Amino acid sequence: MAQFQSYPEMTPVPAPMDVSWIHRSILECLLDGIVISDQSGIITNVNQTAVSLLGGVAETIIGQPIIDLLPRLPLLAPTGSESANTRMEVNGRILQAQVNLIYDEAGAAQGTVAILRDVSAQDQAQRAKDNFLTTVSHELRTPLTAIKGYTELLAGGAGGSLSDDQKMFTNTILRNVARMVHLINSLIFASSLKSGRLEHTADYADLAQLIQQICREQQPAAAEHGLQIHLNLDPDLRPIQADSIHMATILEELITNAIKYNRPGGHVRVKAILQDAPDEVGFVAVTVSDDGIGIDDADRPHVFEEFFRPDGKDRQIQARGMGMGLAIVRALVEAYNGRIWFESTPDQGSSFTFIIPAHQPKGFSLLTAPTD
Ligand code: ADP
Repeated sequence: MAQFQSYPEMTPVPAPMDVSWIHRSILECLLDGIVISDQSGIITNVNQTAVSLLGGVAETIIGQPIIDLLPRLPLLAPTGSESANTRMEVNGRILQAQVNLIYDEAGAAQGTVAILRDVSAQDQAQRAKDNFLTTVSHELRTPLTAIKGYTELLAGGAGGSLSDDQKMFTNTILRNVARMVHLINSLIFASSLKSGRLEHTADYADLAQLIQQICREQQPAAAEHGLQIHLNLDPDLRPIQADSIHMATILEELITNAIKYNRPGGHVRVKAILQDAPDEVGFVAVTVSDDGIGIDDADRPHVFEEFFRPDGKDRQIQARGMGMGLAIVRALVEAYNGRIWFESTPDQGSSFTFIIPAHQPKGFSLLTAPTD
């Protein structure tokens, strides 16, 4: 007969848990596609979402070089940046791909993980919005040209001499038409930037001359608010390799913002210097500063976004804009391999600086990045 022995109650020692199936379940739950590759770029693991985004079956995908399936994926080297983001078309879908380096416990890079998200629907919605804006802008430009032309004729006395009141009315119409033309041109310009259809002349732009000309043109607007414009232009400044119209657009947006968002009696300072680099490429740095209302911390990440206008700032709302200026400025600066940034203190002022190479690399063509 079996003898039963009673043992004191013991807490069982947990066996090491096999977590690989948990990892697998998590990977399979994800709505994003995951593609893991080893150091030589060979795919070692994929989840089901990635399989359906890439097409085929997991068995045929695993073992292939990732670059064969995602040719536009940025390559990451252990000594370079740790992650990169890009958008690409794969199997008729638009994928947003983020690729990150993976490290082991000792900190050695072991390969990469690419996270793929299907953004076809958002991309289509964005295109529809862009097309709508472009069509509406073009359609509005024609009647506006007629309104402007006939009002100019009236103001010039072609329809008979005008009383003082009538002159005031026609001038108000002309001022507002000019504003609408500017807004519509900005929309059309932004749409050409986005589609990469921007025309440019392989020319040289004289920034010092452009700055002087724009400040002269903006003088009446500045004087209206009691503002003073100060220029500090490096005498060594030479023309840079860029289309003058594009450089004028950048400068005009920054200078008009410094006027619009200033305080009565304030100052606008425009400084342009040549920064010679050891390799003699040379950069021009332009800073436009004001001592106006400044930018709130919460708004800082958004000022370069399209159609961004902060909420609840009476003065800024009065200043009337569409929130396209800085988005266009950034896209243009970056298209010329430059960079733009700003410093700002609420209620004290802002200072926008851009640097742009004096010469573009050989074979340069104006590739404009999406502005969103
Ligand atoms: P807009 O001036 O038409 O609104 P922008 O794209 O030029 O569009 O600027 C976006 C927003 O950034 C503005 O609405 C404003 O709130 C803020 N901003 C731009 N420049 C300045 C500046 N110099 N000072 C304060 N705020 C500014």
